[in-house]
Amino acid sequence: METSLPGTHYPRDLTAREREWILWILPADRPGYREYRTVIDRMSVIGEGRRGNGEIILGPKGSDVNLDLPLAPVFAYGAIDTNFGTISVTLREISCDQISVESVCQRMENVPEEFEESRRWTYSTWMPGQLCPQCNEKVREVQMQTAERRQLQYVLSICSNDKRLWVYDAILQVNKLIPVTNYYNELMLHKNIRDPKIALDAKRFFFDLNNYSDEDLVHAFVRYNALKSKVVIGEPLRPTDATQYPITFALRKIFSRYPK
Ligand SMILES: [Zn+2]
Repeated sequence: METSLPGTHYPRDLTAREREWILWILPADRPGYREYRTVIDRMSVIGEGRRGNGEIILGPKGSDVNLDLPLAPVFAYGAIDTNFGTISVTLREISCDQISVESVCQRMENVPEEFEESRRWTYSTWMPGQLCPQCNEKVREVQMQTAERRQLQYVLSICSNDKRLWVYDAILQVNKLIPVTNYYNELMLHKNIRDPKIALDAKRFFFDLNNYSDEDLVHAFVRYNALKSKVVIGEPLRPTDATQYPITFALRKIFSRYPK
């Protein structure tokens, strides 16, 4: 497999290895990721990002890297265990027609040209009901649907072991990582917890997870999305039909696919 970067001349094509990793974390059998594949197909590598070694920027040929853009939310993530430590591959949401892709090796300044791969995993292939893709432990799942559609639409998924949470979109079939600090803040506001020892310590979320009901977690999620419209633009309503659907909220306009 060709691995070396062809100098620093841009625009350039993706290397075989870059392409393989990108396609891996964007599985073609899922509509949300497939859409990104289509977009990336017509893009070139137009330069490097400001995060330094390992970050490339994809964009239309002839366009310049815009280094002033705020860092976009993560859209797809995968990790490859190797004899040089873990290599992580992070692809961010498209922003102003640019996509950042970062490949970083835990123990090396650069991703080595050759290495032995022992295992790889990605959130992109996870489905509700499955174990955590990273640690193979059980995931806490909270199902959500809009009041109108009455069908499974979103699953809030939490792995206490890895201290990660993400939301699965059943229509686009994508998993989006949620930063715990922002989410926890909304949970604290919702629960009206003001003790700074608890409210300011987002890591407690995973230890205290059993203290929070599904309803609490959904409330916090809706609040988070209303504020951070990067992931979901939601509108909290009263739970309805609680017997049949334990958690029913109207979530509107979920997953802005091309956030500003
Ligand atoms: Zn895990």
